[in-house]
Amino acid sequence: MSASKSECCAVFGIHSDEDVFDRIYNGLYSMQHRGQESAGIAIFDGEKIRIHKDMGLVSEIFKERTLNGKIGIGHVRYSTTGESKIENAQPLMINYAEGNFAIAHNGNLINSLELKEELERKGSVFMTTTDTEIIAYLIAIEHIRTGNFIEGIKNAMSKLRGSYSLTILREDKIIAVRDPWAFRPLVYGRSDDTHVIASESCALDALDVEFMRDVKAGEILVIDNGVESYRVCAGKISHCMFEYVYFARPDSILDGVSVYKVRKNLGRILYEEGPVDADMVTAVPDSGITTAIGFAKASGIPYGESLIKNRYFGRTFILPEQEERESGVRIKLNPVRSEIEGKKIVLVDDSIVRGTTIKKIISLLRKSGASQVHVRISCPPIRYPCKYGIDMQTYDEFIAREKSVEEIRREIGADSLVYTSLDGLVRAIGLPKEKLCLACLTGDYPLKEEQMKLKF
Ligand code: SF4
Repeated sequence: MSASKSECCAVFGIHSDEDVFDRIYNGLYSMQHRGQESAGIAIFDGEKIRIHKDMGLVSEIFKERTLNGKIGIGHVRYSTTGESKIENAQPLMINYAEGNFAIAHNGNLINSLELKEELERKGSVFMTTTDTEIIAYLIAIEHIRTGNFIEGIKNAMSKLRGSYSLTILREDKIIAVRDPWAFRPLVYGRSDDTHVIASESCALDALDVEFMRDVKAGEILVIDNGVESYRVCAGKISHCMFEYVYFARPDSILDGVSVYKVRKNLGRILYEEGPVDADMVTAVPDSGITTAIGFAKASGIPYGESLIKNRYFGRTFILPEQEERESGVRIKLNPVRSEIEGKKIVLVDDSIVRGTTIKKIISLLRKSGASQVHVRISCPPIRYPCKYGIDMQTYDEFIAREKSVEEIRREIGADSLVYTSLDGLVRAIGLPKEKLCLACLTGDYPLKEEQMKLKF
């Protein structure tokens, strides 16, 4: 399978009666874990929309206040190889016959090729390689055709298949849109006259804004002087399980479920499904920590730190090149020999994709004197690519595709290896199984022909 345009990002939007630049900055900063390649802010200054975006972290790009205004949106992004370029940074600005708007997108379309071809045949010229531009052109074309911006969004939604959580800035309005299957999270918060849309609730907490609710599947939320909701269409709900297991921050609450609680539950269930006699439970920081605490609590084995993370290093999983990933492990994690020496260790991590990182970590623990390393993984084996916005795209990336659990154990050099079962994962999340996307585990992809049909 060739490289696709998958990307996972964070979107943000704010409508206020005071200047919003600092709050967009803080909102994006709190969601930096969702994307570290580029960031951008678009603000309506009362006359026009101005955008500042660049490659790098939020703190590197916005060293000083560059935009002023009371209404704006923001975006942080990461992508796959070859797409890490400024043209693809967001928000994206679209100028057309009816004016202009800025748009920020988290997700991935599965029918982007068909839509792009159709648009190109009608004369559209694409400046980026992102799905976001396709969405923007569809909205603009449908706006021109119907004479109404919201109708334009509704009509565009009827053509889009895949995951999209959007924030759109048009003049003095911000508009939030969530796809009819609700793959990616999107929340709405309010504090007096300030309305905020964000990918994760942790961004609302960072701004001291009260969480009001999740944006619903297939909903358009328009915020100007008031808030108007249009429930446009409904599909089969398919919340991404990986948001709970790995991607989201543990202090976020997504679709009514605390990510922290899910990860603690996973630790308990992992112990029930893979008990072991050991001296210390430890985690691959940061994403394994909460699950390791849950495992320690359930097992009675003390939790301890065996690896210290360099906090200024990006997530290993997110770096675009495999080579960078491998050499990055040693720079990112340093073992604490005094805690490890002579001990039987339970090492908890969220998932194994390629197996290279965990192999390196186990080797580090052994070199630091661990007598045994028992690996417990909170996500069941990942065997299938994600089509809906998480950066796992080719079959040959997955160690579990060709190898049994025992073969993987030998390959990574663990004394034992247990993954949470699929049922255990669903129990830990606590949502009905039919409301979750589990496709990268089961190969059963949502959005089959019959599920593509939307009720409008
Ligand atoms: S395939 Fe996996 S990573 Fe992708 S949306 Fe579904 S559960 Fe999430």
